[in-house]
Amino acid sequence: MTAPLNPLNRIRPDVRAMHAYTVQSADGLLKMDAMENPFGLPPHLQAALGQRLGALELNRYPGPRNDDLRAALAQYVGLPEGCALILGNGSDELISLVTLACALPPGADGQRPVVLAPVPGFVMYAMSAQLQGLDFVGVPLTPDFALDEAAMLAAIAQHRPAITYIAYPNNPTATLWDAAVVQRTVDAVAAVGGIAVMDEAYQPFASRTWLDAMRAEPARNSHVLLMRTLSKFGLAGVRLGYLIGPAALVGEIDKVRPPYNVSVLNCEAALFALEHADVFAAQAAELRVQRTRLIAALRAMPGVEHVWDSEANMVLVRVPDAARAFAGMRERKVLVKNVSTMHPLLARCLRLTVGSDSENARMLDALQASI
Ligand SMILES: *Cc1c(COP(=O)(O)O)cnc(C)c1O
Repeated sequence: MTAPLNPLNRIRPDVRAMHAYTVQSADGLLKMDAMENPFGLPPHLQAALGQRLGALELNRYPGPRNDDLRAALAQYVGLPEGCALILGNGSDELISLVTLACALPPGADGQRPVVLAPVPGFVMYAMSAQLQGLDFVGVPLTPDFALDEAAMLAAIAQHRPAITYIAYPNNPTATLWDAAVVQRTVDAVAAVGGIAVMDEAYQPFASRTWLDAMRAEPARNSHVLLMRTLSKFGLAGVRLGYLIGPAALVGEIDKVRPPYNVSVLNCEAALFALEHADVFAAQAAELRVQRTRLIAALRAMPGVEHVWDSEANMVLVRVPDAARAFAGMRERKVLVKNVSTMHPLLARCLRLTVGSDSENARMLDALQASI
């Protein structure tokens, strides 16, 4: 007897064994779990954006308007000389494209290309590697979430990774690693002929950017790609990321990009946002003020064991019982992220998004009552 034919058997076993990425339901909850900007567009800008979007030719594929956006972003960041910039449907897509471009088949020794990143870190680096047939090597941070320089250098020398990710600042720890240590890590990547990817998703809230290093020492950073996104800038719903790097390298990544990956709606909304960059800059400035207050309040809260410094719009806290605190906060209609089981170094940790003054007050009350 032959086995019954089942098209599901054509799906990769590793994919069938996976769980779909679940976005936790936030119905009726104060959403403090995903580093979203709490401030919407002011009403007069909503109206103006509506007009712009309504007038678009939705019957046409995206065209030269994407070049306008690339030019506007290049100007916004001050694109370093010799660098190019491409767009992605969020940074998530760019991570996927960089991985795809490096997805060589296993070598004669059976060795697959390696993606390396510090852990705990952003989950998409490992996920993208796994899905595209690359091996992922996670290098633990120190217990205070600094880059473990010796461990990084040793792992890079041993595994000779194709791609090394540095989230600058890191998620979920919110740390901006020491620039000298990062530079020596980037140098070690160059020494094995790898590509370093600086992920600056949280740049609006950080005190430093790696673009300065790329400008100051272009040769030393000629293997560095830098990605940013408008998500934490205030446009998570728009899905717009961008990748910057030496033109030759970026040109190769561009070849694996789906030609119409950024819709005319995303594109126009992003152009509109850049025309009003001052509004978003003021929102980011307000969130940096709120972050300082939130950290101070958390450090003064009885029962909170530790609060880490933050260079992002999130704060990592250690509590006596993360599951209990998470559940208690949820009962009080505040949704945060329980990261305590993501990695041993994150034991008993919750990740809190920095919100507006009133949101943070509600979050603090809920935490206090749940700890
Ligand atoms: C949120 C986040 C991203 C994802 O950005 P999108 O543009 O929304 O896909 C990338 N990297 C890090 C470290 C993040 O935290």
